[in-house]
Amino acid sequence: MAHINENFLSLKQSYLFSEVAKRVSAFSERHPEKKIIRMGIGDVTLPLVDCVIDSMHQAVEDMAKKETFHGYGPEQGYDFLRTAIQEYYQQEMGVSLNLDEIFISDGAKSDVGNITDLFSAENTVLIPDPVYPVYVDTNQMLGTKIVYLQADENNGFCPMPPEQGADLIYLCSPNNPTGAAYTRQQLKEWVDYANRYGAIILFDAAYEAFVSEQGLPRSIFEIEGAKTCAIEFCSLSKTAGFTGTRCGYTVVPKALTAKSEQEKEILLNQLWLRRQTTKFNGVSYIVQRGAAAVFTQQGKRQTRENISYYRENARMIGAALTEKGIPYFGGINSPYIWMKCPNGMDSWEFFDFLLENAAVVGTPGAGFGNNGEGFFRLTAFSDHESTAEAMERMKKIL
Ligand code: PLP
Repeated sequence: MAHINENFLSLKQSYLFSEVAKRVSAFSERHPEKKIIRMGIGDVTLPLVDCVIDSMHQAVEDMAKKETFHGYGPEQGYDFLRTAIQEYYQQEMGVSLNLDEIFISDGAKSDVGNITDLFSAENTVLIPDPVYPVYVDTNQMLGTKIVYLQADENNGFCPMPPEQGADLIYLCSPNNPTGAAYTRQQLKEWVDYANRYGAIILFDAAYEAFVSEQGLPRSIFEIEGAKTCAIEFCSLSKTAGFTGTRCGYTVVPKALTAKSEQEKEILLNQLWLRRQTTKFNGVSYIVQRGAAAVFTQQGKRQTRENISYYRENARMIGAALTEKGIPYFGGINSPYIWMKCPNGMDSWEFFDFLLENAAVVGTPGAGFGNNGEGFFRLTAFSDHESTAEAMERMKKIL
């Protein structure tokens, strides 16, 4: 009989969102008259912007004609999109990338998960707590040794390098769930640490477009020395509403190496190319055409308007919490507001309190790791009206 990968048995049940759904549906059965406002979802609500839709329509037309039909594309993505991303990095962040350092993906989650294919299970991996659960689960599937980086109020949820060395480091900035963002100086410390120990930083920049404070880095490659120690994952999901359309990109510098058992330095760009060309068959032409429109002048303007819309929601949430004297993190460079549960409540107690008394749903921080206990995540992805209504209801009970 076939044997399974035993590591799957050590995975925790993904209990967070199913438990949220269970409690919400029990509440709505008891109170069918109450209008529930959902501030817990991590999904966008605004539709794709016009220029993306136009570009995808045009791509559908291309697919309808023999001369412009596209079959299998390059696994790494079409050059028209990689060039657009290359220019984006140059113009927006002053980062020069080679075209073949950019790999188009069907979203950051897949690549963040699949990257473990390149690494040995013997590695020691640093993962912040609280955290986007994919980093933990994919490392447990591989069986690496996980060391948690304690992210808490004392370090503003931006943990810094420990004394001892490590092999792989997951950093997410701006962060899900805490909304915290690393400064340039803090990232420089991480880059120096990684270069010192020959470690690789797996940098999740899925929320880079939400950075609003001047001077904060949006890419790890803005930091000197990062090209010898970092891989960056990015996504159009939150930047441009591609959660359902699916498109992202991963940057693997050509200068980046890791060691083989024989102590040879192996180019990770080559390994990732080999992995992708073997296991991945590219993102559809239509979606890549839509994605390329995001990086045009018009696309940047239109997506910025959507991000501003979400930012206004974040501002409203932050203003309500400030008015009630409730401490929170995030919301400025991120669509997430990470609030402290009031009156010493734990995350699930506050979840129930908010649901029962205000019919507002958020996400208990404990679901993102031990250090999330006592915190609660609200998202800015609702519409203005629901956000305003939710804040009015919250202010009455807090
Ligand atoms: N990384 C982080 C930190 C996220 O919060 C998410 C989605 O919520 C993703 C990656 C996944 O993004 P994508 O939709 O591109 O797979």
